[in-house]
Amino acid sequence: PARSYLTGLIGSGIGPSLSPALHEREADRHGLRLLYRTLDLAAPTGPGGVRGAEAAPELLQAARAVGFDGLNITHPCKQSLIDHLDELSPEAAELGAVNTVVFRKGRAVGHNTDVTGFTQSFARGLPGAPLGHVVQLGAGGAGAAVSHALFGMGADRLTLADKDPARTEWLTADLNHRFGHGRAIAADLAALPEALARADGLVHATPVGMAAHPGLPLPAELLHGGLWVAEVVYRPLNTELLRQARRLGCRTLDGGGMAAFQAADAFRLFTGLEPHTDRMLEDLARL
Ligand code: NAD
Repeated sequence: PARSYLTGLIGSGIGPSLSPALHEREADRHGLRLLYRTLDLAAPTGPGGVRGAEAAPELLQAARAVGFDGLNITHPCKQSLIDHLDELSPEAAELGAVNTVVFRKGRAVGHNTDVTGFTQSFARGLPGAPLGHVVQLGAGGAGAAVSHALFGMGADRLTLADKDPARTEWLTADLNHRFGHGRAIAADLAALPEALARADGLVHATPVGMAAHPGLPLPAELLHGGLWVAEVVYRPLNTELLRQARRLGCRTLDGGGMAAFQAADAFRLFTGLEPHTDRMLEDLARL
């Protein structure tokens, strides 16, 4: 019989995750048996108790012990679980964050497919988009992955802003250390009008635009037709920011590509098989 696979996701509040469906449907197309389970740190463990984030290392070791082939890792464990792994891919080491772990011959190897996912989505959805000066709003987990991807794709300069200045400062320092001093610039929100007026593109990486955080992440009048606009939010796919940008004639990229490509890259790492990325993109748009 064909080999079967046991995979899953560690994170907090991951009940609604699309990852189980994306991975299991792709496995079906290969005629594989693959189970993808959510190991939710916010799930009740008994009367009145939840596991909590501190249980993540224990879950990781348990998954390895019972024979999982691999795991995806999400908020709030992408950085904290690194110390519990045996080896890191170059992208994961550079970023200091993992979203995929592969167990092989007893070893746990961490990867980051958010970086590769955004890169492939951008290449597919905004081919040839100028990368001279990009403004990025949001310097959290997704923002860190996307900014590394932008420099990896050849961005020249990146202006970063976040409502939490400490996040902006931390990510800017990290990027300048990796990619060359002065290429990342920390800006406060008040500096966005000037930065956007002369930018080639805008990347949005805050949760604003999700159902729980509706609306626009910045004043509409800062958008103009000379920008391309890339979104990280993917639920919904069509955010208020993308609607406004399209109305102005901007080239746009939704967050679905990054989500589908990161899953496709993780599927390849788990199984060694080549994913049907176009079908995974279609699944994501329909789920
Ligand atoms: P996070 O909490 O790590 O970071 C969010 C950042 O946004 C924080 O630094 C916060 O200070 C900042 N922020 C929030 N509201 C802001 C505002 N109004 N103006 C300026 N800054 C603001 O969260 P995250 O993990 O980076 O996730 C962000 C979004 O990206 C979520 O919607 C998540 O679903 C999405 N995401 C998408 C993908 C994908 O594959 N497409 C992958 C990861 C995350």
